Parts: sequence; structure tokens; C-alpha cells
Amino acid sequence: MERSITVQAVVIGTRKAGEINREITLLCSDLGIIRVLIYGGQKSLKALKPPLFSIGSFFLTAGRAEGRYTLSDVRYEASCPFEFDLGQVGIASFFAELAQIAGGSDPSQAFPLIREALERLSLAADETQRNIILIQYVWQLFKIAGIVADPAVCPICGKTYGAKEISYFSTSINFFCCEACADCKSLFIGPGARKYLALTYPMSFEEALDIPLLPSTALRMRRIMITYSMHVSGHMLRTVQSSMV
Ligand SMILES: [Zn+2]
Repeated sequence: MERSITVQAVVIGTRKAGEINREITLLCSDLGIIRVLIYGGQKSLKALKPPLFSIGSFFLTAGRAEGRYTLSDVRYEASCPFEFDLGQVGIASFFAELAQIAGGSDPSQAFPLIREALERLSLAADETQRNIILIQYVWQLFKIAGIVADPAVCPICGKTYGAKEISYFSTSINFFCCEACADCKSLFIGPGARKYLALTYPMSFEEALDIPLLPSTALRMRRIMITYSMHVSGHMLRTVQSSMV
């Protein structure tokens, strides 16, 4: 028996599936990350083709094969589809790719985060604002995924950092720690960056976006958060490797 369901979701991936069909990857608030087949999605003009980053209500039919859905209709949110410039496309592609890696563990929080991040990004004309959205998207997504700790203390030995101390990366916990506990000295954060991350650690995404950063600090932090994401994902981020972001 076929079963119809409706999900609130964002398109975080889209690719060809054979000669005529397409497959999209959705991050749904309740089902997590699912793959959806669109019959005739490549050639037929009548086929629905939800573009990458589109957000809305997706009407799906559960197929015979377990875990496989097909798209029957979609109703986009008023803000979609987004009209992104090249810089925004790069950041949004990075968001989508990172969501595929870290968004599935708690989709009820990850979905509202990426929705808000894409909407804020679509309104952000200023480079520094875009950088702050990127920094906080990574920080909040990893927080939701349960892989970050309060950066005020070393999570391995429990030591409180000195005012001028630098934190380095540990590949065993995928997080920042003190120099003595670290095994990856090429990735580090200074006291200013650590204070900013500690300050925004208990905040919501929306609250954290209101914390201002100097343009030069935001750019530096953006680069750190991208490198940090690469380390967490096992250096598999295509959007970073291809310099899209
Ligand atoms: Zn330590």
C-alpha cells in the first residue's frame, strides 16, 4: 500500500538518478535526512524540480522499497526560491553539505536552524553579516549535533584557560582543547575567538547573530570555522575543496 505524507523540509542535495529521474535530499524536521525520487525530473517539463535550498511543505508518497519516497507536490515558503548571488550560493552550498553530515542527529533543531540561516543569508548584503551567519551556523549546528562543549575550559583535562592562552584542536574529540592535550597544532583559536564562542555557546542562533564582530575578526573566524568543519567532517567537504566557500 502506498502512503502519503507531508513534511516540512529544506532541499540539501540534488542529483541525477539514472537517465531521466532526479533524486533530492531533504532535511525534514521530523524524519531527518531522506532521499526523494522525482520521476522524469531531468527531462520532463511537467516534473517538479525543487531547486537546492528551497524550503516548504513537501507532499511525498512512500514507495514500495523501504525508506524511498517520491515527490507528488511541493508548496514553497514565501521567501523561496531564493535569489542568491554567487557569494550567497557558495555559503548556502556549504550549509547544505554540512547539514548532510551533521543535521541528521537532531533534525527537529537542525531544520529550523538551516531554514533561519538561509533566510538570514538571503537578506544579508554585507560581507561581515554573511560571515557571522556562517560562523554561527557551524557553531549552532555542531552544538545541536552534540559535538561541542563550553570552550571556556579544556574538555579533556578540565583546565581553565589563561587570559592569553591559545586553544588547539584535538582529532580524538574533534574539538578545541589546551596545548598539552592537543594533537593538531595547525588548527587553533586565540583568546578573542574563544571568548566569542564561549559567549555565544548558550545563546540561540538568532541571539548570537546580534553579537557584533569587526570585519577582520569575522573574516578570520569564518576561515577558522570552515577549517574546523573540514576537520570534523574528515576533510570531505566538496564545497570547501572546490573553493565555493
Ligand atoms: Zn587539556
